[in-house]
Amino acid sequence: MRPWNFSAGPSVLPIDVLEQAAAELSNWHGAGLSVMEMSHRSDEFVDICETAEAKLRTLLQLPDDFAVLFMQGGATAINALLPLNLIGRSQAKQADYILSGSWSNKSFTEAQRYGDMAVAASSQDSPSTNPKIPAWAWFPPTEAWQLRSQSAYVHLCSNETIGGVEFTDWPDLAQLGASDVPLIVDASSNILSRPFDFSRVGMVYAGAQKNIGPAGLTVVLIRRDLLGHALPMCPDVFNFEKVAKAHSRLNTPPTFAIYMAGLVFDWLEKQGGVNAIERQNRQKASLLYEFIDNSDFYHNPVDPKVRSRMNVPFILADSKLDQRFLDEAKAAGLVQLKGHKSVGGMRASLYNALPLSAVEALVDFMQDFEKRHG
Ligand SMILES: *Cc1c(COP(=O)(O)O)cnc(C)c1O
Repeated sequence: MRPWNFSAGPSVLPIDVLEQAAAELSNWHGAGLSVMEMSHRSDEFVDICETAEAKLRTLLQLPDDFAVLFMQGGATAINALLPLNLIGRSQAKQADYILSGSWSNKSFTEAQRYGDMAVAASSQDSPSTNPKIPAWAWFPPTEAWQLRSQSAYVHLCSNETIGGVEFTDWPDLAQLGASDVPLIVDASSNILSRPFDFSRVGMVYAGAQKNIGPAGLTVVLIRRDLLGHALPMCPDVFNFEKVAKAHSRLNTPPTFAIYMAGLVFDWLEKQGGVNAIERQNRQKASLLYEFIDNSDFYHNPVDPKVRSRMNVPFILADSKLDQRFLDEAKAAGLVQLKGHKSVGGMRASLYNALPLSAVEALVDFMQDFEKRHG
């Protein structure tokens, strides 16, 4: 039997998708070939790619003025490709960053070599009024953002995968004095887990390996009016405008990963789409948070207003029990629960493909573990 997989990424995929991919691995739809062996210019692959894009558009209700780019390099590459492609919108080569945890900090650090990057707000500078909430465990409120009206863009991370901090209540930047500044969102770990308001953003990007498919594929959704500002030094294969014009097939794209993503989009459609999966995600997360909050043995310090539905870090009252918890969880069929070293303790990632029964099994195990060791 497969264990329940709580990995933060690369993470669990729907079993139906894995089985379908296995069934058609060496002979895709009677073609006599694997998708891996097909030319990316063949009619078959072009159809796979375009179908995947169309399904993604429908699932996200993506407005037509957005381009969908299937790229490589992960979200980490986009941290550099974003300024390379967009900083040219600003004469002073400036952009603003909202820092809310590890990933947004990495984005900011990477971008610094391409222009005048400023911190518009940081959860570290503006501590919560609640002394029980550490600085990393909340999100800087939009009233406190210091935006520059001449910036090329404002960047934020909508789900800090390590801290378990999620922020999707994206503001209208016009009301914050930055009407011509597009919001750019790293949504690697919560894309497709809930509806996004695309009227509030200029670009959303995500590495595939959390809610979309296998690692190797990076998805960029960008409003077309933001294309065409790349610096001359930007490599062609990383030039958003050129990739958009070539329909993601400027050079060989990650063909198998795109095919797998298409199967995941099919699966998501069969689950009822993003609204249906959101209901399930909400149920999964509240089951676990409620259990943690009602226990003196487990603790999650994140501000309840911005607790992530996707990644739930929690610590045990006695960290000497951590290894025992992991060993016993594994024996009970619950794997990849070790927390990130910067936060400690445990982390349960509850991505789309993880069913409610997995979270029920985790809560049962945690209850039992507490009884025996609490
Ligand atoms: C996983 C993750 C990344 C890193 O993605 P790579 O594909 O490894 O570059 C960046 N941002 C967030 C929010 C993530 O969860």
